[in-house]
Amino acid sequence: CRKDCIMTAGVGRSACEHWRLLLSCAASTGNGEQGKPFPLTESDRVDQAYRENGFNIYVSDRISLNRSLPDIRHENCKQRLYAEKLPNTSIIIPFHNEGWSSLLRTVHSVLNRSPPQLIAEVILVDDFSDKEHLKVALEEYMKRMPKVRILRTKKREGLIRTRLLGAAAAKGEVITFLDSHCEANVNWLPPLLDRISQNRKTIVCPMIDVIDHDNFGYDTQAGDAMRGAFDWEMYYKRIPIPAELQKNDPSEPFESPVMAGGLFAVDRKWFWELGGYDTGLEIWGGEQYEISFKVWMCGGRMEDIPCSRVGHIYRKYVPYKVPGGINTLRHSAFRFFFTSVSPKEFFFFFFFSHTAKPVL
Ligand code: UDP
Ligand code: MN
Repeated sequence: CRKDCIMTAGVGRSACEHWRLLLSCAASTGNGEQGKPFPLTESDRVDQAYRENGFNIYVSDRISLNRSLPDIRHENCKQRLYAEKLPNTSIIIPFHNEGWSSLLRTVHSVLNRSPPQLIAEVILVDDFSDKEHLKVALEEYMKRMPKVRILRTKKREGLIRTRLLGAAAAKGEVITFLDSHCEANVNWLPPLLDRISQNRKTIVCPMIDVIDHDNFGYDTQAGDAMRGAFDWEMYYKRIPIPAELQKNDPSEPFESPVMAGGLFAVDRKWFWELGGYDTGLEIWGGEQYEISFKVWMCGGRMEDIPCSRVGHIYRKYVPYKVPGGINTLRHSAFRFFFTSVSPKEFFFFFFFSHTAKPVL
């Protein structure tokens, strides 16, 4: 299979359906190829397979690190044009005790499906993992990938401070955060960078597809015409976009009041102008509200980009220890409000996220 680049040109803009490495290979028919579910046997379903990651690592280990994925973008995405000169990005991937094959597949998918000139570097940030495979073996493996750097925290920091360590070291014009168990789909990157190049205060999120934690089948989330919101308990949810705000063309970027939090790209300097993340946030939880509200309050915007798709393995359960217990996560979600948001702002955002038109 070769990397192909089908150019459609416009004035200063082009659509390069590039680097469709393996995707265009109809011949890829092995386990999990084309994002198909792996045929599980009873012995694959044992608890041991899930214990360390909350997803079935036995299955992951038997699927190619370069597996092909189905191109499930809206048809119109194939006609969209992007600026010929786009900013480059550092890809930041924090991990804590991630499985070998799931971490490597994340890196492979990014390098396989991105135009090389747009990837400044890939920064893997180890949040104090204790698994042997993430030490020398990982460093040895990554020697063959000159764009990949490995940083390590000195103690368990949690997702937020781990991301900040990566962001502080990043050199790219844009920083793109991914989880350590993702698969970037065809032409995922230019649609994100294009929006940032048009307005540097735009934070962009890809559509997050679901990689099944049992069989690794790749599928879209239920209901695509949804946007981010949260309920009175601060749980993030996606609710339908009101009919009057829906675009005629489903491949158009649309505004979102709050982001899901895990996967997004942001202009590096703008991220720091926003103050990065609150460093008092523990493990994970709440950081997506903090960054979302700061974006709105500082005159920025947030968008979901339908033509950019990235798969994520949603775990069956949280496999790692959370220092201070799982309550820390709920505490984290509220911390932001006690420290930075007035009640008036809170109500504004709550109603905005549920009903109002984005008029900022
Ligand atoms: N992570 C981390 N430190 C932690 C917990 C999580 O670096 O203490 C990483 C983890 O490896 C993943 C990301 O943060 O890349 C998000 O965590 P997770 O995937 O567990 O959250 P979920 O997607 O299940 O909500
Ligand atoms: Mn995750």
